[in-house]
Amino acid sequence: MSCVLLAEDCGADHIAPVLRLRCTHPGQWSGTCPVCQGERKLSLATGTNGRRFIWTCHRRPACPSAAIHEAILATGVSSECLGSARGKHRKPESVPRSVLTDLAYAKLPASAYQLRLLMLGEDLTAQEAAAKLGMPERTYYRAVTALPKMAENRRS
Ligand SMILES: [Zn+2]
Ligand SMILES: [Zn+2]
Repeated sequence: MSCVLLAEDCGADHIAPVLRLRCTHPGQWSGTCPVCQGERKLSLATGTNGRRFIWTCHRRPACPSAAIHEAILATGVSSECLGSARGKHRKPESVPRSVLTDLAYAKLPASAYQLRLLMLGEDLTAQEAAAKLGMPERTYYRAVTALPKMAENRRS
């Protein structure tokens, strides 16, 4: 079960006031890390890939993600609001060979291969991978429209 509000509204109404976070961008907040108490060291943002929120401590070394998760819950924020510390699909460290074989036979445009390989290698979403590659928007669009047939072939 998760909170009825969309993550962005939930962050603004249910989480930021409790942790006294300041909104820095839509869907992003910053404030005191509940673990190290470092001012403005915590950043919280709405998540992707099955994660409702992503939290990061910017101290060096950073506070462990799991410790921050627990500390946030200890302040009284509901786990239904914060969501789990892991995505729904935790990806394995290695890529099954069958995925590579499927890729070889998929006859994708080069840009789609580039995108897919970076997604697999660094466990990124298509959008994150495109941003890292500095892929122009039209190329990205062509690549992602070619990718769904890959997704169907994927075994997880
Ligand atoms: Zn910290
Ligand atoms: Zn909520």
